[in-house]
Amino acid sequence: MSCETAAPDRTLPNQVVIHQLSRRLELRWADGYSISLGHGQLRSACKCAWCEGRRRRTPNEATAIDPDVQLTAITSIGDVGLQLHFSDGHDRGIYPWTYLQSLAT
Ligand SMILES: [Zn+2]
Repeated sequence: MSCETAAPDRTLPNQVVIHQLSRRLELRWADGYSISLGHGQLRSACKCAWCEGRRRRTPNEATAIDPDVQLTAITSIGDVGLQLHFSDGHDRGIYPWTYLQSLAT
């Protein structure tokens, strides 16, 4: 009898790479799994209070993110996730690992 549901542990990726030319953020896990997210997609998916408030007030503007926006830096917040810094000066967003993975599906 087998009841193995041993899903690979994908809590923490072991590598995070910013690709500036293709404007993608790549997350790689030890088992070879990887996801890739567009910088603009990440910027518009920001869940900080400021962005959430803006989306509530002006839903039409929420999609009006500069399509050329770039991810300029990332700050690791350990088990929590990543803080992302964008070329438009915005760096308030905390992106939990699980949220990043959900954006890729
Ligand atoms: Zn934000």
